[in-house]
Amino acid sequence: MALRAPVSFEFYPPKTDEQRAQLDRSVQRLKAHAPQFMSVTFGAGGSTLSHTPETVQRLRSEHGVAGVPHITCVGGSREEIRSLLKLYRALGCDRVVALRGDTPSGMARSGDLRYASELVALIRAEHGDHFQVEVAAYPETHPQAEDAHADLRNFKTKVDAGANGAITQYFYNTDAYFRFVDDARALGIDIPIVPGIMPISNFSQLRRFSEACGAEIPRWIGQRMRAYGDDADGIREFAADCVAGLCRRLLAGGAPSLHFYTLNLAKPTLNVLARLD
Ligand code: FAD
Repeated sequence: MALRAPVSFEFYPPKTDEQRAQLDRSVQRLKAHAPQFMSVTFGAGGSTLSHTPETVQRLRSEHGVAGVPHITCVGGSREEIRSLLKLYRALGCDRVVALRGDTPSGMARSGDLRYASELVALIRAEHGDHFQVEVAAYPETHPQAEDAHADLRNFKTKVDAGANGAITQYFYNTDAYFRFVDDARALGIDIPIVPGIMPISNFSQLRRFSEACGAEIPRWIGQRMRAYGDDADGIREFAADCVAGLCRRLLAGGAPSLHFYTLNLAKPTLNVLARLD
């Protein structure tokens, strides 16, 4: 059952046997949609330092999918980043997602590189065109940006440093995405800008995430969710309809593909994909 629009899926690296088994089950089910790649997040400051490569390797060797690592530069030294890149090359990776990351609270060390653009430049300087480099983009503006225009200019700096593609922070307002793409094109940015899609499963968790990363949950979605109360089936159906509608509008408006934040669960993403097929 292959979806017409290309898709990719994002996971976090499991740390326990139970989490590993859950990831294996999710990957097995999501593989049926023939994703372009499955990416694995990286904890800034070393919290998942050893788990991201291990998970990428597992995706590639056990599941036979294109496992793609995220690399963050905050808190890390140039040497640490260099050895990670070497390791990923040895694992057969030819694509990475390059990010600044966020310094965990209480961690003072800022690292050798300050911004994702410097990480992209390092990758290009040391590995030429070997890696397809994806970077992050923010249709609703990164929360620490000076303003929306500065954020867009900073996005251009990453592209000028050599990024080949961008994946956006999740959003539920298509106007924010289309306007962002128009503004980027007007600045001469011509790389694909793939919308990041967050299926809705645990709404209170989503609200917390969204406050931290600056994603807006439209009031009408919150109100409808609240109205379902304890009706778990109703919530599930509404959430999937809502996100599938968002995906349809994005694809109809020219989005090149869809990148799903799975949070290692297959079901919420599959519920959306089933409505798109
Ligand atoms: P940058 O592009 O460096 O931008 C960060 C901020 O600095 C922005 O406000 C920008 O406007 C500003 N800025 C950039 N350059 C300059 C400059 N020269 N002067 C002044 N200001 C500047 N986090 C993780 O820890 N691990 C992950 O695996 C991970 N994966 C992600 C995947 C995706 C698709 C996305 C969208 C986000 C992900 N994140 C991850 C979160 C990300 O690390 C945070 O959003 C982080 O705060 C910013 O990262 P960035 O790469 O966008 O940073």
